[in-house]
Amino acid sequence: MVSESETDSSERFSRYQRQMRLPGFGLVEQGRLFSGAVLILGASFLARSIAICLCQSGVGRIKIASQSLNELSQARQFIGLVEAPDTKISFQLLSDPMMLQIEELTENIDVVVDADSTWQVKLLASDVALRMRKPLIHSHSTSSRCHVYSVVPGRSMCLRCLLTELEMEDYPREEAGSVSSMPALESILAGFQTLEVVKLLSGFGVSQGNELLRIDGLSGELEVLRGLDPSPDCPDCGIPFLIAG
Ligand SMILES: [Zn+2]
Repeated sequence: MVSESETDSSERFSRYQRQMRLPGFGLVEQGRLFSGAVLILGASFLARSIAICLCQSGVGRIKIASQSLNELSQARQFIGLVEAPDTKISFQLLSDPMMLQIEELTENIDVVVDADSTWQVKLLASDVALRMRKPLIHSHSTSSRCHVYSVVPGRSMCLRCLLTELEMEDYPREEAGSVSSMPALESILAGFQTLEVVKLLSGFGVSQGNELLRIDGLSGELEVLRGLDPSPDCPDCGIPFLIAG
């Protein structure tokens, strides 16, 4: 006789049968997504799109944190329209000083996603993720150009080193309300960032680590920058991992 919980469990898995038809993606991989926990920094269209994609993939817990109460409220409404029976979603307002708050939010989280529009939050996220040894899936867009980059502790340079590598040390200190972006490009970033999260949580496929994908939305050009390894003398991405061996 089939128990009620077995029926519930098979119903739960059946909701994700489309991705479970992929060769190499089975009950184990889907089960890991059910147990996965993700922190999304930001609550704009990009963050909401990532949250919805993660719900549709069956990720178990999502926390969305932003400095904008207005964006958080819009995110709550937007995501509320989507059926997400297997995902627990919570919302958190970030306020200064944010470092401690981001650290607390990152506890019991498997992957951090940077979907925030300000470099202040992006760099704090990089510092916290590396210190707590959690992967950070970063993206940035400005005008019609964007990039996506996974910071995997011990395998990738941190965002502070990345800014130097990309000669972006004088990055614009954007205010959240003044950032330009295109929803179509943000949808592309959301797809790449969600795919990275799904791969890292499930163990399916190969996650990026020292490669940055740059997309020019207008020309359609794609470029991959490789070899973005940890900088040995960096106190964030290099030294702690060299000491740990
Ligand atoms: Zn570094």
